[in-house]
Amino acid sequence: VTDYNEALQDEIAALPGGEHIHRCWQCGSCTNACTVNAVNPDFNPRYWIYLIRMGMESELLRDKDIIWQCVSCNKCTYVCPRDVFPEGVMKATSHWLALKGHTPKSKSMIFDEEFTAQVVATGKIEEGRVIRGFFAKTGQPLLQDWLVEMAKRVARRLPFRLGFLMGLAAIFRPRTRGWGKARDAITEYVEEQESRQRKALGLKDKP
Ligand code: SF4
Repeated sequence: VTDYNEALQDEIAALPGGEHIHRCWQCGSCTNACTVNAVNPDFNPRYWIYLIRMGMESELLRDKDIIWQCVSCNKCTYVCPRDVFPEGVMKATSHWLALKGHTPKSKSMIFDEEFTAQVVATGKIEEGRVIRGFFAKTGQPLLQDWLVEMAKRVARRLPFRLGFLMGLAAIFRPRTRGWGKARDAITEYVEEQESRQRKALGLKDKP
């Protein structure tokens, strides 16, 4: 192997969730407990942690299309004897893949961005607006059978007052009073973190 990335462990450790990757002693408890591994033996957190710690980037990239499939059940987190937080390492690795341009942004990442943007803008979320924004960004039609069915079922059980308030919230965007300072502080923190992470990965700052 001639293509080591000697900074790979540091790059993953610089992303949220990856901080404790250096503690792994390769016992395999995370993979044994893994929900996804039970249905797909190629999904192997212990092996990926090994590759990252060894700097074997090209080997890791062979599995780039399944690493993001972690369902965050956190069974690995509870069994890990070294507090590595393997679920966090999977998230950090998916994040790394997207930041480095090895994979397109996953749908869950797009959903998180839409959700976060709404919280930052108003201090609240309105579920309908989040779903509409997510569908628009992922090119999905708004009227989907499962969504219509879910809305019908919810509408049947929803108390009138609550339904009325939800309808109002869909039209008039609800906001947390005095949110401005909190929004500025969150925005500054997020920009700082993103800049630090991009620097750790050797990427240019966002314009
Ligand atoms: Fe490493 Fe923890 Fe997984 Fe064991 S359970 S292989 S120590 S991450």
